[in-house]
Amino acid sequence: MIQLANRVTQVTPSLTLAITAKAKEMKAQGVDICSFSSGEPDFDTPQYIKDAAVSALDQGKTKYGAVAGEPGLREAIARKLNNDSQLNYSPNNVIVTNGGKHSLFNLMLALIEPGDEVIIPAPYWLSYPEMVKLAQGNPIIVDTTAETDYKITPEQLRQAITSKTKLFVLNSPSNPTGTVYNPAEIKALAEVIVEHNLWVVSDEIYEKILYDGVVHISIGSLGEEILKRTIISNGFAKSYSMTGWRIGYLAGPEPLIKAVSTIQSHSTSNVCTFAQYGAIAALESPKSPPCLQTMRDAFSQRRQVILEKIRAIPQLSCPTPMGSFYVFVDISKTGLNSLEFCDQLLEKQQVAAIPGKAFGADHCIRLSYATDLASIEKGMDRIERFVQETK
Ligand code: PLP
Repeated sequence: MIQLANRVTQVTPSLTLAITAKAKEMKAQGVDICSFSSGEPDFDTPQYIKDAAVSALDQGKTKYGAVAGEPGLREAIARKLNNDSQLNYSPNNVIVTNGGKHSLFNLMLALIEPGDEVIIPAPYWLSYPEMVKLAQGNPIIVDTTAETDYKITPEQLRQAITSKTKLFVLNSPSNPTGTVYNPAEIKALAEVIVEHNLWVVSDEIYEKILYDGVVHISIGSLGEEILKRTIISNGFAKSYSMTGWRIGYLAGPEPLIKAVSTIQSHSTSNVCTFAQYGAIAALESPKSPPCLQTMRDAFSQRRQVILEKIRAIPQLSCPTPMGSFYVFVDISKTGLNSLEFCDQLLEKQQVAAIPGKAFGADHCIRLSYATDLASIEKGMDRIERFVQETK
């Protein structure tokens, strides 16, 4: 038997894989699957972004580049953080990574010592606890409920803090719930973080996907004290429909960014050089704002339709998501747990959904509406039939 490293055996394999793999297999066999499982926008990357990368290729941007990112991209990201979020960062506060996931993983390696505690509100994006474990830290999960729109309260945060707490993970807008913290809520959490001298990582990957006029505010913008303790994690995957490009970034205090750069220099080196020129276009082109608006409008319409359909089924309920492209639906009235629900739904109605257990909430399922309207309507009709037959 292979004697694997302890760190691997402590990590939970992805719960979502089995169901998505089964759905893919059924689809390949010609079964008409309705999928609500996608974690990526269903739009192609905008043409002007692709053109910028092609032009960089033609100009020979095909060699090793700076570990921390192309200077032009670090400048563009710093400019964006100053302009969009009033974060006083220079390019030295920024490192370009191979996606948001890589940003967070590098951060955990740079910051977490064995035994350090990292507070993660549940429902959470499924990689957070596993990354903490890989860095030999302890994820401390704090359950939230639909009554608070799945937001952690300052009191809950305060109660979870011990002498070992190092980091708090904030994800707004959230995957899987679509929750967006308002400015007062962020301010209240920032006060606790400063009071207890913690770090906070703000995962802002869905910051551009917002509805009904809500605004995203970055926790680091609330003053010097919180800025010193803030690390921003972001990327191009969701906002610009660039999931396969693998470009993300971290921003934070310079010594921390330097430490992440050292880790990167011995692991992945630079991010794909010509791809970074596509990212510069994403941030700087005047074509971006209208293009993002078109995608947001499409998501907004789909959100409306899926919410109406969910609310017409008495056994299902969910708070109104204000961002991202997910709805987190409470299924407890069906009497099934999330794995049973998703397994049976796929088997009986050929609908793929993600069990909430993967996100630390076994009484819920996650539906992604990053799919076309016709599929949403058909899939929701099937879910309604499934729930009625489960009664
Ligand atoms: N953070 C959250 C909350 C996500 O949902 C995802 C992707 O699903 C990521 C980070 C990672 O994104 P990327 O594709 O840039 O690695």
